[in-house]
Amino acid sequence: MIVKDQLGPSLSKQPALAILLGSLIAVAGLAASAHGRPLGDGKISTSPGVGYLMSCQTQFNANAPGAFNTGPWISGSTYDADAKPTVDGSIGWPSEIMVTRQGDKRMVRANNLPGHGTGVFPIAGSDDAYQYDRNPNSIQSQDIALTLPADPQSGTTASCVPMGMIGFALSGTAIYNAVDARGKDAPAYEIQDGCGGHPQRQGQYHYHDRSPCLIDSQSQPNGHSDLVGYALDGFGVFGIHGDGGQELTTADLDDCHGHNHAVDWDGERKTIFHYHMTDEYPYTIGCYRGTPIETGALRNPPGQRRPPPRRRN
Ligand SMILES: [Zn+2]
Ligand SMILES: [Zn+2]
Repeated sequence: MIVKDQLGPSLSKQPALAILLGSLIAVAGLAASAHGRPLGDGKISTSPGVGYLMSCQTQFNANAPGAFNTGPWISGSTYDADAKPTVDGSIGWPSEIMVTRQGDKRMVRANNLPGHGTGVFPIAGSDDAYQYDRNPNSIQSQDIALTLPADPQSGTTASCVPMGMIGFALSGTAIYNAVDARGKDAPAYEIQDGCGGHPQRQGQYHYHDRSPCLIDSQSQPNGHSDLVGYALDGFGVFGIHGDGGQELTTADLDDCHGHNHAVDWDGERKTIFHYHMTDEYPYTIGCYRGTPIETGALRNPPGQRRPPPRRRN
């Protein structure tokens, strides 16, 4: 999946030899970083810091539900993302998402079902992932109705990132922060499907890091990544590529996991803060640069069965 995404944009922009070389280099680079990815455990703070999650929740229950067995892909202070199993299957969903701008507001309406296939949840006993994570939740549609500032402003101070939905991806599904209900590095411990997603107890499918199934054809000027979602403060979330097309690392970004430069924003060139997804903790949003909207409690649409009484992120 990652290989295919890397080939996609190259095919449209480069001659044949460059495609081959560029793809090989890109794949080698991804593989190298995936093998020795530093664990984010303990990198939770109450103030902004590069490489940290400024978390609203500061106390975590070490026995909260999550992966029950630490896999061999975790070794010391690093993990090998390529060696980690994924939840099997390829289930299609009737995804609905509509993003419209109305004056200074941006409305996101969606059912949270992804526009790509997912693995089979609950995780089946026959799935190799079941040895490590017995996620018992089923993917269920959600009523997503967000009213975001269309041209958000940076706040005087950054603010903390809660548990649950922190942003919404253009694939039609929620973005959560970097940690699980135990406060540990969720992409390292929890088992996701091949698109990097899984459902929590109310059935909300979500990513904790960069999904290989988000469409990023580097269509912005200078090879910069596509917009792949919106944070709940209204600022954009882009893919891993910065200006010049290079893959950004967490160290390239500021303490909220973003930066400020010109991008195409609603069809105009505009210098504006934005977040980037990277392959390193905290992966998406480290703190909110703007003022996040209140989303209230997650509601299931009428007719959905009640969620099981199980806490999980
Ligand atoms: Zn950027
Ligand atoms: Zn999760």
